[in-house]
Amino acid sequence: MKFVQIKAPKKKKIALVAHDNMKPVLSKWCATHLLELKNQELFATGTTASKITNDTGLSVSPLLSGPMGGDQQIGAKIAERSLDMLIFFWDPLASMPHDPDVKALLRIAAVWNIPVACNPSSADYLISSPLMQQENEYRVPDYTAYQQARE
Ligand code: PGA
Repeated sequence: MKFVQIKAPKKKKIALVAHDNMKPVLSKWCATHLLELKNQELFATGTTASKITNDTGLSVSPLLSGPMGGDQQIGAKIAERSLDMLIFFWDPLASMPHDPDVKALLRIAAVWNIPVACNPSSADYLISSPLMQQENEYRVPDYTAYQQARE
């Protein structure tokens, strides 16, 4: 597999997702990092978006609810390179009807090498990174070369 360097903009497009037991945790994390998050463009699965907006006043573009396809919408945005970061507080202590979607979302985020935080500690590291304040380069699969290799 060949790779190519691309740029993430200074103003990052961030997807926020939390399973039900983790929604208060994500909402609290957002409230703690309100100033940093206000400077970014935020997306979230349906119920997560409502909860964050109600609790913090942050402006969040809502997608479908996770079990109804919201996780897959986020995955599609990652594959189209229209998301720069994923904050996904999934619940390690509950089984989910849309577990295949959750797995697919984490896989596609790894494929496209976007930063992912699955718990508040990791999310603290991401949000406090100097890279949040600037345009930064990262490596993604070179799809042209990948396609040519398969032909
Ligand atoms: P929700 O979806 O924000 O609509 O609850 C999150 C999820 O369960 O993936």
